[in-house]
Amino acid sequence: ADITLLDVLREHAARTPGKPCLSFGEETIGFAGLDVWSDRIATFLEQRGVGPGDRVAILSHNAPLFYALLFACAKISAIMVPLNWRLSAREIAAIIADGEPSVVLASDVLSHLLPVSSEPPVPLNLLDALPDVPARSGSPDPDAAAIILYTSGTTGEPKGAMLSHRALGYAARIAPYAWNFDGASVNLVGMPLFHIGGIGYGMMALTQGGHTVLTREADPALILATIDRWQVTHAFFVPTVIQRLVELVEAGAPPPRSLNLLVYGAAPIGETLLRRAIAVLGCGFSHAYGMTESAGTIVSLPASDHDPDGPNADRLRSCGRAFPWVEIALVDPTSGAAVPTGEIGEIRIRSAMLMSGYWRKPAETAAVIDREGWFHSGDAATRDADGCLFIRDRYKDMIVSGGENIYPAEIEHVLQAHPAVADVVVIGVPHSTWGETPRACVVGAPGEPADEAALIAFARERLARYKCPSSVRFMDAFPRNASGKVLKYELRAQAVAEEG
Ligand code: ATP
Ligand code: MG
Repeated sequence: ADITLLDVLREHAARTPGKPCLSFGEETIGFAGLDVWSDRIATFLEQRGVGPGDRVAILSHNAPLFYALLFACAKISAIMVPLNWRLSAREIAAIIADGEPSVVLASDVLSHLLPVSSEPPVPLNLLDALPDVPARSGSPDPDAAAIILYTSGTTGEPKGAMLSHRALGYAARIAPYAWNFDGASVNLVGMPLFHIGGIGYGMMALTQGGHTVLTREADPALILATIDRWQVTHAFFVPTVIQRLVELVEAGAPPPRSLNLLVYGAAPIGETLLRRAIAVLGCGFSHAYGMTESAGTIVSLPASDHDPDGPNADRLRSCGRAFPWVEIALVDPTSGAAVPTGEIGEIRIRSAMLMSGYWRKPAETAAVIDREGWFHSGDAATRDADGCLFIRDRYKDMIVSGGENIYPAEIEHVLQAHPAVADVVVIGVPHSTWGETPRACVVGAPGEPADEAALIAFARERLARYKCPSSVRFMDAFPRNASGKVLKYELRAQAVAEEG
C-alpha cells in the first residue's frame, strides 16, 4: 500500500512525540504537537464548510503553519493551495479565480494583496489558539490531490500542478536515498514554501523524524545565523541565494560550519559561482533537477560525485542520475525517437512522482503528458556514457537562427568566463535575414570596463560564428521571479519594444 505523508507524521508522533519537528525563530513544536495542531485546524476548516476536494489557500511568509495546514487538509481530504506573495495583486486574483478556494488564510501583512471583492481572509493568528479536538484517524485516498502548487511562471502564466498524496509520498523517498537525511538531520528551509523547492524540500527531515528549521525568507544573514543557532546539517538553495551567501562569507561572515550538505538547483548555476561556493562554504554539494510537475527533485548528483579538480571535474556541471522510481527518456521532441549518447534531446519523465495534471487545464495537461504517461518537460539535456544528465536549456528559450538551433546557455557559459561579466543572459531577438539572432544581456562586473565589441570578439574566439551574439546590452539587473529565475520573456519583450 502507499504510505502517505500523514501516515509518516502519525508514526513519528507516536514513536517520538516530544522530539523537535519544526522550529521557527525561537519557537519549536514537536511531532505530536504538529499532529494535534493539524487535528484542530482540520476541525476548524470543517466547521467553515470545507469538505473533500475543496481548496484551502494560504498567503503567508514561511511559517510552521504551512505544514500544520498540509496535514490538516490531508485529514479532511481538502486541497492546500499556497499563494505566491511575490506576485502582484492582479496575478494573485487570477490564481484565486482559477483555484476557487472555499477558505483563504492570510497573514495581516500580506492580506492587502487579496482581491477586495472576495470574502475576507482568515487571519493566521486565529489558528494558533484553537480549541482541543479528539484525535482523527483515517488517511486520504492516495490518488487524490494533496496540494495544488503553481509553477514558477518563468515561461508564462503559472499553472496549478495537482500533486497527489502518492506523489508526495514518493517525493519523500529522496530524503534518505539521495541526501542522507535521518532522525538526527537538521534541515533549513528558507526557500519560499509556495514553491516545490520550499514545501517539497521542507519535508525531507520531517519524514525521517528529523528537525526542520524554517526561516521567514531566504535572507542570507538570517540563513547564516539560523544555521549556527540550530546547528543545521542540510539546506537547499537556488543559485541567486547561494551567490549572496558566498558574498557574505567572503566579506567576513563565519562560514556555516555545521552544514554537511547543500542541495542546489531549480535554475542553472554558473560554474564560476559553483566553484567559489565549494571553496568558501566548505560543505558537501548535491545538484538537484526537478520541477513542480514532478513534485520536486527526480535527478540528483550525489555529493561524493563532486570532484572539482579531479578527473571527473566535468561532472560538476551534471545534475546526476534519475532515482530508481523515476524513468527518464531523452528524445527528439518532434519525432519522439531516443537520441544517442551525447546528443541533445528533451527530458521526458515517467514516475509515481508526477502530477495528476494541471488544475482545470485539460488541454495544457494533454499537451505535456502523453498517452503512455510520459511528461514532456520542455528541458533540453544530454546524457554521457555514465548516464549522467546535463541540462542544456529550455526548448522555449532555444534560438533558431538561419535554421540552426542555438542553446543560449552555451553562450552564457562562455561569456560568464569574461572578467567584465558579472552575470549574463542570452535571448533571441528578431532578425530580418536569420529569423532570430542571439543577444547578450550583461550585468557588468564592478570596476571592469567592457564594451560590446570586446565581448563579441571574446565569444567569436570560443564559439561557432552563428552562435555568437550580434549585440550586447548592458543592464543593472535582470527581471527575476521568486525562485531567482530570469524572466527571459520580459527581456525578449523589451528587445522587441526597442526595435519597434
Ligand atoms: P513555468 O513552468 O511556470 O514556466 P518553471 O518551469 O520555472 O516555471 P518550476 O517548476 O519551479 O517552474 O521549475 C522547473 C524548471 O526549472 C525545470 O523544468 C527546469 O527548466 C528548471 N530547472 C530545475 N532544476 C534545474 C537545474 N538543476 N538546472 C537548471 N535548470 C533547472
Ligand atoms: Mg515549467
